[in-house]
Amino acid sequence: MGIESLARPDIVAMTPYSSARKEAPGVGILLNANEAPWPLIEEPGCLNRYPDPQPAQLLSRLARLYALPEDRVLVTRGSDEGIDLLTRVFCRAGQDAILQCPPNFGMYQIAARTQGAQIISVNRDPQKDFELDQQAVVQSLRDNPQIKLIFLTSPNNPTGDVIDPRFLERLLQETRNQTIVVLDEAYAEFSDQASAVNLINENAQLVVLRTLSKAWASAGLRCGVVLAQPEVIDLLRRVIAPYPLPSPVVELALRMLEPGVLEKQQALLERLRFNKQYLLDALRKLSFIRKIIPGQANFVLIKVDHADEVLTYCAGTASSSVGFHQTR
Ligand SMILES: *Cc1c(COP(=O)(O)O)cnc(C)c1O
Repeated sequence: MGIESLARPDIVAMTPYSSARKEAPGVGILLNANEAPWPLIEEPGCLNRYPDPQPAQLLSRLARLYALPEDRVLVTRGSDEGIDLLTRVFCRAGQDAILQCPPNFGMYQIAARTQGAQIISVNRDPQKDFELDQQAVVQSLRDNPQIKLIFLTSPNNPTGDVIDPRFLERLLQETRNQTIVVLDEAYAEFSDQASAVNLINENAQLVVLRTLSKAWASAGLRCGVVLAQPEVIDLLRRVIAPYPLPSPVVELALRMLEPGVLEKQQALLERLRFNKQYLLDALRKLSFIRKIIPGQANFVLIKVDHADEVLTYCAGTASSSVGFHQTR
């Protein structure tokens, strides 16, 4: 049984929209998209023309970055779009479900609600440091065959913990031909845990989400990446907007992925690690903080008695506060 059998039959049966740039490559004299032949302003990047739906050079740089062939890469408007596409492709409204492990990223739930999919939650217990309840996840999958997507986050937002590779392996055994396993690695660069990207080759149901928003300091770009076997990528390409990435974004993303920037990224990660330690040391001196969970991402989780008041206080003083060290 292939991955297609997990997707919504409507999506599999649909003839995808064939945009002009898909039907003929964007070179030579272009007449098939009713564009203006000349731009009104010079830059950036050929504004009068529709962009490439999946820009070849960008795909190639991302493929190299994640060490996968290009047919396993889809560039999206942030991971948010990847989450939305997956939910739309695999969940039939009113019938199928997603599984999530809250507290986690809020967009899984939003995407499921928008699509009319059921949300099954295996909650993390605050009494146990919000540790993932592995047994409950497996049990829930067995009890609920309508689960089409399971969203796991590593490191998780907001708890900062990573998925145990042995559990991931077990889950991939459990879900073969049955459920898509989405591993959201938005914060992977901050952690010393190895990425699950290299498991994609042997697991057709595994999808890894990456983004330029966090460790590439480019949240404003809206550039996310879905990594999976070509069957999954092809299904997502059926429903993605015809031209998801604006030309100026593509140009900037290409610059971001030039070799020299990787060094800058290393310096940024180092600086953030230093500032995180500084923050943790400061937090440990505050008596009203009941618990600190440092996690492996670029944030920390704290427990206080009056969370709303602390939040309001921090929001009000953030602009006038001393600030953290900018340099070492
Ligand atoms: C911030 C974040 C993302 C990134 O979303 P983008 O749309 O790529 O900006 C994805 N997943 C999680 C868990 C996040 O916290």
